[in-house]
Amino acid sequence: MENIFNNTQIAFALKSDTELDRAYFLFKMIDNEPLVRIGTAVTNFAINANLPIEGLIRATVFDHFCGGVNENDCLSVVDKMYTKGVSSVLDYSVEGKEEESQFDAALAMTLKTIEFAKERQAIPFAVFKPTGLGRLDLYEKVGAKVTLTALEQEEWARVVDRFDLICKTAHYKDVALLIDAEESWMQDAADDLVEHMMGKYNKDKAIVFNTLQMYRWDRLDYLKQLHERAQEKGFYIGMKIVRGAYMEKENARAEEKGYPSPICASKEATDTNYDAAILYMVNHIETMAIFAGTHNESSSYTLMRLLQDKGIKTNDERIWFGQLYGMSDNISYNLAAHRYNVAKYLPFGPVKDVMPYLIRRAEENTSVAGQTSRELSMIKAERTRRKSLQ
Ligand SMILES: Cc1cc2nc3c(=O)[nH]c(=O)nc-3n(C[C@H](O)[C@H](O)[C@H](O)COP(=O)(O)OP(=O)(O)OC[C@H]3O[C@@H](n4cnc5c(N)ncnc54)[C@H](O)[C@@H]3O)c2cc1C
Repeated sequence: MENIFNNTQIAFALKSDTELDRAYFLFKMIDNEPLVRIGTAVTNFAINANLPIEGLIRATVFDHFCGGVNENDCLSVVDKMYTKGVSSVLDYSVEGKEEESQFDAALAMTLKTIEFAKERQAIPFAVFKPTGLGRLDLYEKVGAKVTLTALEQEEWARVVDRFDLICKTAHYKDVALLIDAEESWMQDAADDLVEHMMGKYNKDKAIVFNTLQMYRWDRLDYLKQLHERAQEKGFYIGMKIVRGAYMEKENARAEEKGYPSPICASKEATDTNYDAAILYMVNHIETMAIFAGTHNESSSYTLMRLLQDKGIKTNDERIWFGQLYGMSDNISYNLAAHRYNVAKYLPFGPVKDVMPYLIRRAEENTSVAGQTSRELSMIKAERTRRKSLQ
């Protein structure tokens, strides 16, 4: 298959020279691991101490990785990306909240984004995080089948109601819904809940999508078992396939508590596992829908090749590629130029509240994690290409 991801002219067509320079300096900065570590600590301190650093964060990482502080801010970005065929998933990225009022606020915001998606072709999915709707500790208890107190039972019933209202609304409005995956110790309860929702709302097609983190060595078996249950009960499986964003936390907890790590033994094992999940889903595509959330070029080619081999149209509505806003534009825009379905997660929320998201992005973009060199080399190539035209 022809290499399409190196076309930087297509990748950065929407970026002015100034924006390209800004992206270059940003990635140069976060390429430096000690700087990211110190920067993260200083930023956390400054935010907690209410120091006025929001302007600085906005002008640097925030504007690069986020669509704005609220959903309306995002619309100009949504429209702009869509001129090149790249869709958006509005992602309310407020994390780490613990109060009922905050869970209700996330519920209201998710319902609003379903409405936004209903009204706009450029927004094909809505999304939410399970811990946006309930406490992580509660998911953990439910997953571990610990007996809940009467109060906790009521609290869990509210989480289930929030899930159900969102999934029911998505089904009613015919808007596909992605549900993110998080730490393994809360995921069992979320998986059971999402499966229940798929049983209710995926009778005719995949509306509700769960997420599989393929850095977990048990996920391919989970997918196969879920497939058996789906066949028995007659529902479609919607699945976002990612590698997983909590690897260090997972390994550290497993070591601390003395249980085997749920993470694959190596990066290569994760890569193999990822591609195996894609293959399994494409082989059973008549009852499944895939959202391949990845910045990995090789896995993207794997999926493209599979579509070609099976004679599946590039823009088949059951197959989507996804990247995060601010990353891997070379993949997103080149896929769109070749008429694949592609959507970027577009995070939004108050600057202070999206910091955990931004810190994860900064950390995964250090030279140690390896993503930055990819971003930087693409940006450099495009700057050189533009200079050669002057
Ligand atoms: C649209 C979209 C949605 C996403 N949604 C979620 C979500 O719901 N939940 C979530 O957890 N993440 C999510 N992510 C993040 C994702 O899990 C990855 O962190 C990120 O995309 C990097 O992986 P990659 O596939 O792009 O490939 P690469 O950059 O090739 O792979 C990096 C990943 O490989 C794995 N890895 C690295 N080193 C090792 C090792 N030594 N052993 C085993 N595995 C290793 C890790 O998962 C690491 O993140 C999402 C990403 C995208 C693009």
